[in-house]
Amino acid sequence: MDFNKTDEQELLLESIDEFFSQNPQFNEEYIRKCEKDHRPLSEYRQAMIDAGFATLGIPEEFGGTPIDTVTLCLVAERFNLHGFPSYFGQILQVDDILAFGTPDQQKATMEALLNNEMYFSLGLSEPGAGSDTNAVSTSYVRKDDGKYVITGHKTFCTDGDRAKNMLCLARDFSVDDKPSKTMSCFLVPSDAPGVKMEPLTKVGTNWRSMTEVYLEDVVVDPTALVGKEHEGFMVVMKNFEIERLVIAADCMGMAECAYKEALKYASEREQFGQPIGKFQLIQEMLFEMRLRIDNMRNLVLKAAWERDNGDSIRISSSEAKYYCAREAFQVIDDAMQIFGGYGYVGDPRVSRLWRDVRMNRLGGGTDQVMVYIAGKMLLKEAKRI
Ligand SMILES: Cc1cc2nc3c(=O)[nH]c(=O)nc-3n(C[C@H](O)[C@H](O)[C@H](O)COP(=O)(O)OP(=O)(O)OC[C@H]3O[C@@H](n4cnc5c(N)ncnc54)[C@H](O)[C@@H]3O)c2cc1C
Repeated sequence: MDFNKTDEQELLLESIDEFFSQNPQFNEEYIRKCEKDHRPLSEYRQAMIDAGFATLGIPEEFGGTPIDTVTLCLVAERFNLHGFPSYFGQILQVDDILAFGTPDQQKATMEALLNNEMYFSLGLSEPGAGSDTNAVSTSYVRKDDGKYVITGHKTFCTDGDRAKNMLCLARDFSVDDKPSKTMSCFLVPSDAPGVKMEPLTKVGTNWRSMTEVYLEDVVVDPTALVGKEHEGFMVVMKNFEIERLVIAADCMGMAECAYKEALKYASEREQFGQPIGKFQLIQEMLFEMRLRIDNMRNLVLKAAWERDNGDSIRISSSEAKYYCAREAFQVIDDAMQIFGGYGYVGDPRVSRLWRDVRMNRLGGGTDQVMVYIAGKMLLKEAKRI
């Protein structure tokens, strides 16, 4: 494995640095204001679209610029290093539709992406079905006229109220098979009769909204079906492994962002007549933060490299997400410690990162689920010893 970046990768990363230096308005103040006003980072997203970053990773046939997994992770890291989201998680959701959707669904998804709109939110989780997707109880029936009627309750729906549709995973209880073979995915219009939403509050990432979604006898056309009937589980699982890796890369970038802030503060803030960075206990924290970031990079790039070489990343993507989500939280927590009271008061960047990064130990599969997924694979490997 070669850690050198290619010329193309260097250029791409430099163009992200330039993007931020040419757009100084995208700073912490901007994020704080959007959070306060409960609105998305629309101007930032629009600038990403204008600069061509929003279609990175999307196949050429849909007007995108495909990139390999190593580059995808480097780019995700770099946006987060500047304190801003990469939105690659959203790109991977778009990819579900591009892979399984009808031409009309693909067209509408791409149009929305380029128009700075959200075509759909993700409706998987339910009050009784979190880590256990097989427990989804939202149900659907097919009527004689071919339309589907959906009833159920989804929760944790990120940007549910901002998206035109919700990609809803629902079960056909008339089929007597294991749950994963009874599920289908539907694009349910957010304004369809029978859809009711209630806002949820959360600890961080408050530039995104979250809703409970109640579905009561919601009728959708056959054109709302995404992929084949009873193969909905595959639609939502297709990108899970790469999504984990992107989350890991995002976490790495957030940790580096906090580390940089802490390093600068430690060299400027004086106590007992000298910069606090001269105290060995502060140096120990900075050293461990950097060590964790180096380990994150090794895990992320190794898994990305494996994927680019056609190897399975089931274990390595779980390892990367597990490690990076936990250790990024630790790094950012240490950064807050170095800031002393000023890390907790006045909402500086480190405290916002601290709130935002924590969700990565939950969303995209919890820490424990990462162990569960990799653990099963380890036992399979043991059989080959
Ligand atoms: C910020 C945020 C955004 C989200 N956005 C979306 C979204 O847009 N759409 C969507 O559908 N969902 C979304 N989710 C939901 C997310 O996918 C779930 O929170 C996650 O799957 C865990 O489910 P749960 O919260 O119900 O926890 P549970 O599954 O109830 O888990 C509770 C605890 O038990 C542990 N646990 C569960 N199973 C096992 C096991 N087998 N072995 C050991 N421990 C176990 C978990 O690790 C956790 O610690 C989001 C969540 C967050 C926090």
